[in-house]
This record gives sequence, C-alpha cells and structure tokens, in this order.
Amino acid sequence: MDQATVVCVRLRPSSSKETGVRCIRPEGEQDVTFTNPDRSLSSYGYDKVYGEDSTQADVFKDCQRIVSSVLNGYNGTILAYGQTGSGKTHTLIGSISSPELQGIVPRAVQALGEGIAADTSGAEYEVRLSVVETYCERIRDLLDPSRDNLQVMQSPTGAIFVDGALEAQVGSEEQLVQVMHTGLAARTVAATCMNEASSRSHCIVTVTVEKCCLDGSVLVGKLKMVDLAGSERQDKTQAAGQTLVEGSQINKSLSALANVICALTDTGGSDGAEDGSSSHPAKHVPYRDSKLTRILQDSLGGTSRTMLIICCSPCAENGPETLSSLRFGTRARGI
Ligand code: ADP
Ligand code: MG
Repeated sequence: MDQATVVCVRLRPSSSKETGVRCIRPEGEQDVTFTNPDRSLSSYGYDKVYGEDSTQADVFKDCQRIVSSVLNGYNGTILAYGQTGSGKTHTLIGSISSPELQGIVPRAVQALGEGIAADTSGAEYEVRLSVVETYCERIRDLLDPSRDNLQVMQSPTGAIFVDGALEAQVGSEEQLVQVMHTGLAARTVAATCMNEASSRSHCIVTVTVEKCCLDGSVLVGKLKMVDLAGSERQDKTQAAGQTLVEGSQINKSLSALANVICALTDTGGSDGAEDGSSSHPAKHVPYRDSKLTRILQDSLGGTSRTMLIICCSPCAENGPETLSSLRFGTRARGI
C-alpha cells in the first residue's frame, strides 16, 4: 500500500431495495470473486479490498499516508469511482453529524488540523479550500456558483489551478467543514431512473496547505478528493436528450482518467518532475483529454500519491455495472 498509486475496491452492504443475491465477494484482503451470469467465476486483484462490513475508519486508515504527506508539501489525490448508488459519496463525505459515519473528507480535514496543531517547529500554516465541479466539460465553482465556465491554468512552477475559483481561507476545522458543505450542496444533479439525486458531475474538493517554515522556506501541498460522476451506462438509466449528452461526456472523462492513471502506473508513477508537473519524457500522459484530468494534472503522477476507490454494490442486479467498475480499476492498475 505504499506505492504511488493504489487501487482499492469497497463493497457496500446490500440495501433493503435489493434482492440480496450477491454477485461479488471478497477473497482475502486483495481479491474479489465475481459470479458471472453463467455462474462461472472470475477473480480480480487490487491493492486492498474493503468488504461490506468495512467501516469509514478502516478506509481512512489507508488514506492517512496521503493526508500526512500533504503536510510535507506533496500533492495527493483520493478518488471515488462507481455507478450511482454504489457508495461514492458515503465513502468520501458520509454522514457529517455522526463521528463514526464521517467519510474521508471530514476525517482528512480533521487530520490536517491535528497535524498542524502538533507541529512545534514554529512554522506558520495557511489552509485554503476550493470546491469545483466539472459538468459536460465545463468547470463551475461550487463555493460561488456565479463563477462559471472557468479555465484550468498552469503557473510558472508547474502548479495547476482553476483560474478564478474561490479559495476560501479557513482558520478553523469547523469553518473548513462549513465551507465544504456549502460547496457540496451546490452540486449539479439531474433526476434519472436510477437515483433521483444522481450526480452527473465530477466534484473536486481541494485542500491546500501552505507551510511557511522558520528558515523562510515554503512548502505547498494539495489534497484533492474527487467524487466522480456515476459511471453507469446511460442506456441503463433510460436517459435521453440532455442526459444522453452528459453520459457520453462523463464516459469520456472517466476513460481519460483511466488512461492517465494507467500511463502513470506503466512508468512507475513517480519518475516525473520534482514539482509534480507534466514533464514525463518517457511516456505521454494524456492529461489534456478532459477537464477532469487537466485539473488533476499536478496531483496525479510526479511525486504525488493517488488512491482510487472503486465502489460497488454487492448485488446481482447491479452485476454488469459492478463488472464494468472492477475492470476500470484493473485498467487503472495497468494490468
Ligand atoms: P453514490 O454517491 O455512489 O451515488 P451513496 O454514497 O449515495 O452512493 O450511497 C447510496 C446509499 O447507500 C446511501 O444511502 C448510503 O448511505 C448507502 N451506503 C453506501 N455505502 C455504504 C456503506 N459502506 N455502509 C452503509 N451504507 C452505505
Ligand atoms: Mg453520490
């Protein structure tokens, strides 16, 4: 689990609306067995598999090394992938009001706060938060939705930023959580047959930690946490019109994401420029194929650490989507 890119699978418990007939089960800590419609079995391997009874704390434990590296000036990315209803938002956000049901974002925010409080070196920190979504290849600021159609830019040092997106300076953990809520509440949603609150956008929460050390050096680390759009095929959701266009854009950006992660995994994932910028002479990494991968450019590859969590329903009626998600994870591992 200490390589630059890790791909995990998380199974959620079956819901009361599902038949309860399982098509997938964990096999040890790293494999899942999938039951095909013809009853034959296929096996898929990952860096870690979280079973139906896994807790939010179990998942966060494996995120901690990414979160703490951000305090040392590195970039990290945690992505949740899966069909609508598979547990992406639960994994990333969870229930904020109940401590044990809190997801990765509030836990990370808390861990960063604790890390800063524990630093007795005399360093000064500034923490900033931004929340943007990409929807049909258009970037919108969720902290200030009047900031629409934003562009991705690169600074002379190679840092990637969404030009014009609000970066809220946050002084306290409570403030950070509150700002985050504002952003998440503004996500674009469209009703589909699968789930009324199905999210058709990719939502990217960025926490930037700037550390000014006593010797005058400045370290900047960014933690990006991404709630990806539902990965389901649009024919299953019987979508039409606008939603059909969305579907093809979503598939395009998710496919671009797999290609980028796969290209990075092929090159070892950590042979890039020191600043995490785009110079990978050995292999072309197609960051520019979507807004999503462009935004993540300085946080995937280079010295960054990435964790991709493939969220799955365990039940047979979601089998085809689960299989497609498992394959996405396998592809991202470069296998
Ligand atoms: P998504 O964001 O992928 O559409 P959600 O996170 O909204 O899916 O999950 C769908 C439903 O399943 C929600 O009611 C959520 O609370 C529940 N759920 C998801 N994962 C888990 C889990 N690991 N444990 C318990 N409930 C879960
Ligand atoms: Mg969701």
